[in-house]
Amino acid sequence: MTVTKSGFVAIIGRPNVGKSTLLNSLIGEKVSITSPKPQTTRWQILGIQTLTSAQIIYIDTPGIHRDEKRAMNRYLNRIASAVVLDADVIIFMIDVTRWHDEDEMVLKKLHDAQKPVIFVMNKIDLLKDKADILPIINKLKDKFHFTHIIPISAIKEDNIHHLEEEIVKLLPEGPQLFPDDQMTDKSLRFQAAEIVREKLIQVTEEELPYTTTVEIEEFKQSEKLTEIGAVIWVERPGQKIIIIGKKGARLKKVGIQARRDIEKLVHTKVFLRLWVKVKENWTDDERALRSLGYE
Ligand code: GDP
Ligand code: MG
Repeated sequence: MTVTKSGFVAIIGRPNVGKSTLLNSLIGEKVSITSPKPQTTRWQILGIQTLTSAQIIYIDTPGIHRDEKRAMNRYLNRIASAVVLDADVIIFMIDVTRWHDEDEMVLKKLHDAQKPVIFVMNKIDLLKDKADILPIINKLKDKFHFTHIIPISAIKEDNIHHLEEEIVKLLPEGPQLFPDDQMTDKSLRFQAAEIVREKLIQVTEEELPYTTTVEIEEFKQSEKLTEIGAVIWVERPGQKIIIIGKKGARLKKVGIQARRDIEKLVHTKVFLRLWVKVKENWTDDERALRSLGYE
């Protein structure tokens, strides 16, 4: 069979509803990092799924934020809006266990989209009674015309296949855009940096996502070994101390966990060196953001 349909599917929703988890479940590999803390996904990630007759290109978006005070937030907002324009199909995702003001805000952004919108109600595994989704459906069905309403569990991969089938039906006709075996548009280098950032977020208790960024300074691949040197940029000396931890214990943990995941990605042994450096107030400075690659 050849691919006769292809298109872009944007996954939109407030932080923490499970967008990146869904993307990883659909693709079957870790293409986007996830965490219980909001705002983990900072970049736009493409996840590419090639089926026998269709190629679906998913766009995992960062959350849309009300608070636009800081440069990083403005940046996140800009990509979220751009994605709505680029997509052929939009998945509007919520966490079924709680409807939030921010969900309402995201939905407002979709009103003028003029695209099919699939309402995906995620985390149904957390519901004791599946009928609990009915009040949410009733509340929304008069406010917005959804093409489909699909309850899923991204983490348990429940009803994911049904979602996939409905997406394929909505795709426009088109050629295969990426090779069969390509699962993301991001380089290994980028994915390695993201994995380090994921472990940092998971290992540090304090809120760090906004103020940390990871820059890969060295990435040398040979048949059996990949050597990686990465700088973790923070805003303040205090954050550096937090990340390094007592006698370096926390940074070591980040390194060990990141190395394990990167080894799965590159299929070689990995030698990972991490440094923590301070760059003051970079989130408030668009120029500094650009210098670190946030174009
Ligand atoms: P995003 O900010 O929308 O990309 O959300 P993430 O994919 O990073 O997920 C946020 C948190 O919700 C993580 O801790 C996930 O493990 C969790 N999560 C995602 N999907 C599900 C689900 O279907 N069920 C449950 N119980 N948790 C989920
Ligand atoms: Mg995410």
